[in-house]
Amino acid sequence: MPNYNENYVVNMAFRNILIAYGTKLKYIQFKKTKHWEDILNRFDKICCYCGNINESLEADHIIGMNKSELGFDCLGNIAPACPSCNRKKNNYPQNENEKEYGWKRYLKEVSINNNIYNKRKKRIEKYMEAYNYPPKNLKMNESTHKIIQRKLHILGNNIKKALEETIKKL
Ligand SMILES: [Zn+2]
Repeated sequence: MPNYNENYVVNMAFRNILIAYGTKLKYIQFKKTKHWEDILNRFDKICCYCGNINESLEADHIIGMNKSELGFDCLGNIAPACPSCNRKKNNYPQNENEKEYGWKRYLKEVSINNNIYNKRKKRIEKYMEAYNYPPKNLKMNESTHKIIQRKLHILGNNIKKALEETIKKL
């Protein structure tokens, strides 16, 4: 029997919805072959969080492309990160109380002092602003955010149920 990973399937569905939604909002969709070299150059080919020079820098979503942060796969939200940062940053979800995105909290953790933190934070923010991300004319206000989240949760549960039914019939 194939090994179904429900979380993987649900995450892929969320990602696809966010891609479709991002296209609707006219974000410039990130294409590795077209944009990656420019993004690398903008960040001097170092990890935008820890500053490591790593030959295998990965395309990280600054605002996480997940059900809690609703980041998009677009220019202004893709930055180079070393594999370690790309992985560890996932453990820093958005702070519910302060409404602060996880990337800032993670950046603070890996910056040796406040100067470094501010410098790297400004660089990332400047990049996001250059692509109007997230756009100021779009008020991704709390209720919009919650509506999308709720729909994604319903979808996630439906996918899980459908997978379970399918597996039973195999
Ligand atoms: Zn790093």
